[in-house]
Amino acid sequence: MKFERYGIGIVKGLMVTIMHLLRHPTVSQYPEQRLNTSRRIRGNEFIWDQVKCTGCGTCTKACPQGAIEIVTSTSQEENKYTVDKYQIDTGYCIQCGLCVEACPYEALYLGYAYECAKYQRGELVQTKEMMLESPLRKASGYFSPKRAAKLPKQTLLLERITEKK
Ligand code: SF4
Ligand code: SF4
Repeated sequence: MKFERYGIGIVKGLMVTIMHLLRHPTVSQYPEQRLNTSRRIRGNEFIWDQVKCTGCGTCTKACPQGAIEIVTSTSQEENKYTVDKYQIDTGYCIQCGLCVEACPYEALYLGYAYECAKYQRGELVQTKEMMLESPLRKASGYFSPKRAAKLPKQTLLLERITEKK
């Protein structure tokens, strides 16, 4: 009776332990090794499209942290806003992605980087010049299924660890 009550539980527990012993290790030697990140990662860098951005300010209103600052002027000739200043203080940002989701013109994306620690507080501010897309600063597929479909498939498996060069 006692074996039925407790013995089976012990055997089940041991089975779990043995299975974990036989599993491939999932610890990487960071920072020499690092796991590939999700293609929909919400990293702590932003990619801003100066062509698509209309200066509507929707992202600013959506940000719960008040991290986005935008200054626009009106262009009478072209009958549209000119974005004079657009910057995000990542010191306040919590990577919620609401600004990206709120943008009606797909002009704002989150990037891949997650190691953006700085020595100076002021260096956490990303200006519009810094936020332009480049080969070193690619937008992730977060909240953009079309973009995500074109990115390499994500994996968190250890055998896909990329060695730091
Ligand atoms: S990700 Fe969230 S906290 Fe960061 S700037 Fe966008 S809305 Fe604000
Ligand atoms: S919501 Fe989009 S288009 Fe509007 S100001 Fe922000 S980034 Fe520009």
